Amino acid sequence: MGVGRGQNVTWAAWAVLGLAIVVEAGPAQEAGGDIGARLLADPTVRAALAAVERNERQILDEQVRLCEIPAPPFKEQARAEAFRRAFEALGLENVRVDAEGNVLGERPGTSRGPHLVFSAHLDTVFPEGTDVRVRREGTLLRGPGIGDDCRGLAVVLGVIRAMRDAGVQTPGPITFVGTVGEEGLGDLRGVKRLFNETLKGRVDRFVSVDGTGWGITHIAVGSRRYRVTFKGPGGHSYGAFGLVNPIHALGRAVGAIADIEVPASPKTTFNVGRIGGGTSVNSIAFEAWMEIDMRSADPSALRAVDARIQQAIDRALAAENARWRKGTLTVDRQLVGERPAGRTPEEAPVVQAVVSVTRALRLPVSLDEGSTDSNIPMSLGIPAVTIDGGGRGSGAHSLGETFDATDSWKGTQRALLVAIALAQK
Ligand SMILES: [Zn+2]
Repeated sequence: MGVGRGQNVTWAAWAVLGLAIVVEAGPAQEAGGDIGARLLADPTVRAALAAVERNERQILDEQVRLCEIPAPPFKEQARAEAFRRAFEALGLENVRVDAEGNVLGERPGTSRGPHLVFSAHLDTVFPEGTDVRVRREGTLLRGPGIGDDCRGLAVVLGVIRAMRDAGVQTPGPITFVGTVGEEGLGDLRGVKRLFNETLKGRVDRFVSVDGTGWGITHIAVGSRRYRVTFKGPGGHSYGAFGLVNPIHALGRAVGAIADIEVPASPKTTFNVGRIGGGTSVNSIAFEAWMEIDMRSADPSALRAVDARIQQAIDRALAAENARWRKGTLTVDRQLVGERPAGRTPEEAPVVQAVVSVTRALRLPVSLDEGSTDSNIPMSLGIPAVTIDGGGRGSGAHSLGETFDATDSWKGTQRALLVAIALAQK
């Protein structure tokens, strides 16, 4: 991003928003100002930043404590309950758990809007029974989920605590949320419920704190996942020879899918990730299945690769049925995952505000794409970003995951400024 272009856009965008956090600043200063620098000039905000630095030890303790409560897919209740209690202890209002299991708590603003949702996800990819104890070696924390997304959960609590300690007031109310079902087959069920029911029509801006480092995700990579099953009568490999064969049909489909051409930009991908089926070596199978994943940040490219894959499946079915005289194969397609693509443009005030506060703290600016809770608001046209929670992580989604907490308070500080900046008019 060109610096000049970014500044011009910030100028115009914040002028449109009529932002005013530093009450003593005149309108001329506001229009030309930059939200990051202006927040740093505000004594209350500075007090909150100092509180973050002071509190970081406690924030890291929270990160470890929450992470040692298992939160397997679809079984986040125990960790959600701990998060709910933390919200209550920090004085949030209307603390509650919605029908999907999301934890919500409110911090009122001085006026009605804009309404910011500031969140992290509760769930992990690790199955029940995984040893989730965290080992500490100096600044290094080691344990499954310690970065993704126990870091995000701890940062959310750190932001609430610092705002409380310094008495920060924002024009817009902030609803803090711990979401369920962000990972894998959870399929964003928590954030989907949030936008389709719990807070439907009431969210103006959305932030997810997810993972480690400094990234700013403003492009949502969409995905679709199918489980496809070919079915036939099945029979003896010798006695029933000449019967349609689901495994042969599956092979035809996989072969055709393997030859599909996709654009390099926008990056669009497909993968047959698992196959299965069959009865025995001397049986014509009655069933064969595969699981397919496809992704793109561009909705039309995602639709296009999906259409090609469906066509490959249709043709494989027709070819196998035409090849043999006996029996008829059918195919069953089950959509097992759908994450819509979307984006908050780089020029959008929300992205510019996050960039501005990141620069003000002299942290690296890295605009990224990814698949996160922000996919849902982005697909609905609601300004959203996912920010990293600071520190350095490795091995996300593996049992050997680590989080290096050196200077991690800077991540909490950035998140704090993002929350304050996006709760301005
Ligand atoms: Zn995550």
